[in-house]
Amino acid sequence: PSNNIQEFRAILHAAKHIIVVAGAGLSAASGIPTFRGAGGMWRSLDAMSLATPEAFAKDPSLVWQFYHYRREKALRAEPNAAHVALAKLSIPSVRASIAPSSKTFHLITQNVDGLSTRAARAVTTAQETPDASALLEMHGRLFDVRCTKCSHTTLDFSSPLCQALGDADRAHEDEVAAGKKETQISIPLEDLPKCSVCNSLTRPGVVWFGESIPLLPQLDKLVEQADLCLVVGTSSLVQPAASFAWQVQENGGRVAVFNVEDSLGTDTADFFFQGGCEIELPRALGMDDTA
Ligand code: NAD
Ligand code: ZN
Repeated sequence: PSNNIQEFRAILHAAKHIIVVAGAGLSAASGIPTFRGAGGMWRSLDAMSLATPEAFAKDPSLVWQFYHYRREKALRAEPNAAHVALAKLSIPSVRASIAPSSKTFHLITQNVDGLSTRAARAVTTAQETPDASALLEMHGRLFDVRCTKCSHTTLDFSSPLCQALGDADRAHEDEVAAGKKETQISIPLEDLPKCSVCNSLTRPGVVWFGESIPLLPQLDKLVEQADLCLVVGTSSLVQPAASFAWQVQENGGRVAVFNVEDSLGTDTADFFFQGGCEIELPRALGMDDTA
């Protein structure tokens, strides 16, 4: 693959339908651990196996604690220059100067941390507003809470549960810091968050491994029409997102990968910009002095 910025800009200039497929690496520079880098009480657990319906059925308290940990991380994080660059690309007037032939732009993110939404808010001015429909959070959102029975969904930043989970998390970290054996603190089932409508147990409103993706039909259409796909900070191991870039290429489109390391499919990409996407993406887009 090429790493020539001028060649990339020429492709960008001519692209009509642009998609970005983003993963955990997009938020890495914001201090949000990828699953492989998860710390705290989750270091000794396989994070991937906690993001499953089976894990929740077996131990809802443990899974809620895992999501609480991730919420805390996300709340403390700030969007980085890559989130900002993508948010700016979703402002029609900004995009017109960078990709003047583009008719559509969509950011398909596997991340649930809400940082792309916050970046969009941060770049909004009276004259320039990101197109809200440009952002597709295919794996849901960390702060959505959904009823396991009636599916009633609410946005929740501060449930009383957070207090209990926060205390458990801190107590655990204190134990680890004191060199004590790691114990698992468990919140009693009756203290887990309940639905305000039917009082059943609620769950994080995210898409777990093995679950279907409600946005998939819409995503398939976008992938089908795309002639340029930017793959940002994803290992391309998690399906179906991993196959999006490949499909774009199959249809004659171009693919540019932004990653710190070689990942699956990098060798067949048209462009590979190796390094932190918080630096490489604004640079390739020509936004590094404004980001
Ligand atoms: P992953 O392995 O799919 O993605 C991480 C990728 O990012 C790796 O290829 C890594 O080389 C790359 N990377 C790391 N730092 C980077 C940087 N600064 N710039 C560019 N690339 C960088 O992610 P995972 O953690 O194994 O997650 C698997 C699934 O869980 C995915 O759906 C993922 O999006 C989700 N997840 C989301 C979040 C979040 O919401 N922030 C966090 C963890 C996991
Ligand atoms: Zn309910």
